[in-house]
Amino acid sequence: MTDPAAGAAGTGPAEADWAAAVAAVRDLPADAQVQLICHVNPDGDALGSMLGFGLGLRQLGVRQLRATFPGPPEVPEPFRALPGLDLLVPEEDAYPAPHLVVCFDAASESRLGGLVDRLATAGTALVLDHHASNTRFGGINLVDPRAAATSVVAEELLARLGVRLDAGIAEGLYVALTTDTGSFRFEATTPAVHELAARLLATGIRPGDISRQVFDTRPFGAVRLFGEVMCRARLEPTAAGGNGLVWTYATLDDLARHDQRPYVLEALIDSVRCTAEADVSCVVKQVRSDEWAVSMRSKGAVDVSRVAVALGGGGHTFAAGFTGRGSADDVMASIRAELDKALIEA
Ligand code: 5GP
Ligand code: MN
Repeated sequence: MTDPAAGAAGTGPAEADWAAAVAAVRDLPADAQVQLICHVNPDGDALGSMLGFGLGLRQLGVRQLRATFPGPPEVPEPFRALPGLDLLVPEEDAYPAPHLVVCFDAASESRLGGLVDRLATAGTALVLDHHASNTRFGGINLVDPRAAATSVVAEELLARLGVRLDAGIAEGLYVALTTDTGSFRFEATTPAVHELAARLLATGIRPGDISRQVFDTRPFGAVRLFGEVMCRARLEPTAAGGNGLVWTYATLDDLARHDQRPYVLEALIDSVRCTAEADVSCVVKQVRSDEWAVSMRSKGAVDVSRVAVALGGGGHTFAAGFTGRGSADDVMASIRAELDKALIEA
């Protein structure tokens, strides 16, 4: 019988879920098609978990294996050295009805865009994730809200499948782990996280080179763009119940003037959230004339995932996002209206 406590909110997957996931991979027919999918606008955890896991499946002998994500098939520059990129195909080339589909780092079906139909057409749908808000949209769900990254869940499944970590697998999982722990700075950085990092580093991957490529390299145009966008940041000390809000925005015109791709803006929130006088930070990034991708962070006073969910998005307690409509000021007004409702009781 399954433990009634296991698999409940706040705990990891039940033993039965792990067993079902292992069986779903182990019992694949020899000619099986396996489709891996991560969330739209993939970050280091989404891509690193997916490609690291894909290389693990390849080690197990899975030959018909593709990886993809919804939207334009452009891999952000920081991730263009990841091992396993040869697995990636544009979304229109994803297997239409694979034996197995595996989804990475997506809290809900909405994050899979036009690939959501694979959950129905695939023989089995397996979900690997670590968002507390995950809606358990797979047939088998390995969701662990305590896990620092989806790659923690991916590594455990690979271990249970008997996969031996090699440098290719390890690099993807390491990029995922460093991305979602802020390079081992966030609260989720447990002893188990460092133990996983040690296992990954033991394969011989080079953390200095990886961090420089993923976090510390950007075009000069992006450096100047960051300067301009940082200069227009606003501080609102009375917002968020007096805990303070700092925010800025970047337009499509800003990107065009500096000849930059939208993904360069993903790192901007890390500079904005340094502001000592604000608990909450936001970056509002234009994606169409009246559409904005919003990143939010909190240092502990506000559950920004509540703000994001109220506005149609999702995420974690202290790092969340959503897509807003109207002008940047409209989007900020909608955030301000939700902030006071999302205060965490002291
Ligand atoms: P970031 O600000 O780095 O883009 O995202 C931070 C967190 O919020 C991530 O866990 C990500 O999954 C979540 N997130 C960001 N944007 C969206 C969105 O539009 N919808 C949902 N559901 N989650 C989002
Ligand atoms: Mn993640």
